[in-house]
Amino acid sequence: MTVRLRPVLSSMPAYVPGRTVAGAIKLASNETPYAPLPSVLAHIGSAAQGINRYPDNGSQALTDALAAKYGIPAEHVAVGCGSVSLCTQLVQAVADADDEVMYAWRSFEAYPIIAAVSGASSIQVPLQDYVHDLDEMAARITGKTRLVFVCNPNNPTGTVVHRDELLRFLRAVPEDVVVALDEAYREFVRDPQVPDGVSLLSEHPNLVVLRTFSKAYGLAGLRVGYALAADPAVAAALKQTQVPFAVSSIAQEAALASLEPTAERELLDRVAALVAERSRVRLDLLAMGYDIPPSQANFVWFPLGDATLEWSAQYEQRGLIVRAFAGHGARVTIGTPEENDTFLAAASELAPSS
Ligand code: PMP
Repeated sequence: MTVRLRPVLSSMPAYVPGRTVAGAIKLASNETPYAPLPSVLAHIGSAAQGINRYPDNGSQALTDALAAKYGIPAEHVAVGCGSVSLCTQLVQAVADADDEVMYAWRSFEAYPIIAAVSGASSIQVPLQDYVHDLDEMAARITGKTRLVFVCNPNNPTGTVVHRDELLRFLRAVPEDVVVALDEAYREFVRDPQVPDGVSLLSEHPNLVVLRTFSKAYGLAGLRVGYALAADPAVAAALKQTQVPFAVSSIAQEAALASLEPTAERELLDRVAALVAERSRVRLDLLAMGYDIPPSQANFVWFPLGDATLEWSAQYEQRGLIVRAFAGHGARVTIGTPEENDTFLAAASELAPSS
């Protein structure tokens, strides 16, 4: 006799992380290529002195720092073990079995897994020209819809929705349906037509903005993200659904150190350098004949369809690890200028027009 597991596990997609291969350049997980700041490492060192004690379960100091940064009361803020954990907690907070969780597809690959594990039904609305089809998403809301993820910029395409479309969507969504605006890549956005989700909170009580220290702030390995909720009841629900002590003391301290003005300025200067590299990489790829949608994140998308796996294997042979989504396309993270040069040299060799 074998143990009985939930049937849903056998039909669930697995989360496939970007691979790390010794000696290869990893452009697969949308991490920053830069080493941690010395000031952040120093805080991590001091925090390590106290790890015989549990962390502050409410991440109060970090919550207060985030509330001050965004000019909102602390009751609207919830800190989590990465924003992926907050996505999970949100589904657990709003959806009972068979309730519906909606998102665009293709989008962040954790959404279907999170919905399936919680027992909710996934409603996937296809992207239109690589962009969220918000009108279609609004049209597909039913009495069972409890949560809609809008990933802006979208992972893995890097595409964005603009203010007018998003406001039209928010007006169309019933007030009791939570809209989670996943802004994991917000700091990389330069398109002025993309709204800052935080500025929409005061007008939209069902909105919650999700952000992370993993990307622009360079703390992917520590696992810390946060939610800014228009309704404090949503932030409270996120605290109720948190695994106790999920955010380590080291993660809390590193995030606090990253918000110190000098550190934050330096981190955002690095973001600016990556944004400049993003433009350079995309323009070079377009000149080589690749079809690359405009990206507002720290990666670019190659819509390769069935050719994806073969394409990514050829890069791997050249020591470059990209993130391939079989049958859809490949996502390539923007790295250091040198890493990007290596990638572009391979891309030129393998270009459609060469
Ligand atoms: N949302 C999106 C769109 C992402 O791409 C990611 C990371 N890949 C996350 C959330 C989760 O980030 P983290 O858990 O590291 O904060």
